[in-house]
Amino acid sequence: PTQPYDDANIFAKILRGEIPANRVYEDEWTLAFHDIAPQAPVHILVVPKGNYVSWDDFSAKASDAEIAGFARAIGHVAREAGLVEAGYRVLYNIGRNGGQEVPHLHAHIFGGRPLGRMVG
Ligand code: 5GP
Repeated sequence: PTQPYDDANIFAKILRGEIPANRVYEDEWTLAFHDIAPQAPVHILVVPKGNYVSWDDFSAKASDAEIAGFARAIGHVAREAGLVEAGYRVLYNIGRNGGQEVPHLHAHIFGGRPLGRMVG
């Protein structure tokens, strides 16, 4: 695994309800909310509720139900945001080289404008 989970990270505080977020979806496994500094007309963050820093942690430790729940939540949020027809982007920043700032695994969903081609 990457690094120990830090309970004080901002998404942990949002998950505990200690700081507000503009929530768009929640279920047993997953919470989704609008990014505070949107980079596109739609910019939503989807986080698993479990304490995972990175995809490495998540893939190694999460149950199949958590992983499936998270994947389904991303699809659900994109659908509910009306992004399916025009398309959208799902992005993970992981670790140092990935430029990850918040050490709780999150998927970014971007949409609402042409996003350009981005492969690295
Ligand atoms: P990362 O670089 O870790 O992939 O992305 C972290 C994202 O979290 C950034 O897009 C940033 O704007 C967003 N963010 C940081 N702090 C907060 C916050 O307090 N609330 C919300 N809703 N988003 C945040």
